[in-house]
Amino acid sequence: MRCRATILVAAIVSLSATAALADLRDDVAIAAAVDRHPVVRVHGDIELRAVPSSLTGRQLDDFATLAGNGVRDIVRFTAVQPPRQRIIIYLSPAIGISHTYPHFPASLRHEPRMFIDSERVAAGDAPYLHELVHAVVGNGGAMWLEEGFASWVASSVAGRYGGYYAPVLSNGNDRVDEQARMMIERSRGASESAKWFYDDDPRLGSQRDRRAFYILSHSFTKFLAASLGTHELVRIHRADDPRALGKISGRSIDEWHARWLASLGESRGRVATAR
Ligand SMILES: [Zn+2]
Repeated sequence: MRCRATILVAAIVSLSATAALADLRDDVAIAAAVDRHPVVRVHGDIELRAVPSSLTGRQLDDFATLAGNGVRDIVRFTAVQPPRQRIIIYLSPAIGISHTYPHFPASLRHEPRMFIDSERVAAGDAPYLHELVHAVVGNGGAMWLEEGFASWVASSVAGRYGGYYAPVLSNGNDRVDEQARMMIERSRGASESAKWFYDDDPRLGSQRDRRAFYILSHSFTKFLAASLGTHELVRIHRADDPRALGKISGRSIDEWHARWLASLGESRGRVATAR
C-alpha cells in the first residue's frame, strides 16, 4: 500500500516522501489516461477501469469476478467490514509494480484505488488478493505488519476459498518459512529481521532489501497469526499503531521476534539447516 496519513509511502518502491509524491503524480496521470476511454466492469464492491485493448472482454469479466469474490472472501476471513466506497481498480500496461491506496489522496472521495499491471492480469499472475487486503483492511501502523498481513491473508484466502495467490515477493504460506530460513541463514543470524521489524517505516534501498523485507514480514506475520489467532491479529492491524503488537498482545516485539526465530529453528545466531 502507499498511503500513510497524508504522505504516501510506496510499499515496494522508494520510500522517500519526494519519490512517493512523484509516484502519486504518475498514478494521477495513469488514472487520467485510463479514464479518457475506459472499459469498465463492476462486480460486487469493485469497479475495474482498464485501457481498451489491454485485455479482452472475457479477461476483464473473469478478473472482475475474481476481484469481487476476493473482496467477499477477505471480508469473510478477516471479519472486517468492506470499505463503504467501491474499490476502483485501474488496469494498464503502463503500471509497473502493483500498489494500493486505501484512501486515494488525489480524489475528492478518497476512495480505495488499486493500480495493477494489465499484463499480469492477462498472465493470471496479478497479486490482486494482496492489494485487495490493503484496500479492505487499510493502514496497519508498522509497514512490516501491513505487508506481512496482506501476503498472509491473500495466501490464506486463496487456499480456503479460491482465486489465486500471486507472490509480491514471498511464496505462499506453505513455503514462506522455508524462504525465511534461507534468508536468515544467508545473512548469518537475526539482525536482518530485527532491522525490518524494529523500524516502522524502513527504507528499502535495493531489490535484495525488498525481497528480504517481504519474505521475513510474511513469515513473521504468519507466526503471529498462528500464535494469537486471526481475530487478535486483525485487532492489532486495525489499531493502526506501530506499538499495537506490544499493547494488545502483552508481549514485546523482542519476545515475539525471538519466538518466531525459535520456531524457524534458529539457534546460536544461525538457523539450523537440518530440520
Ligand atoms: Zn503490499
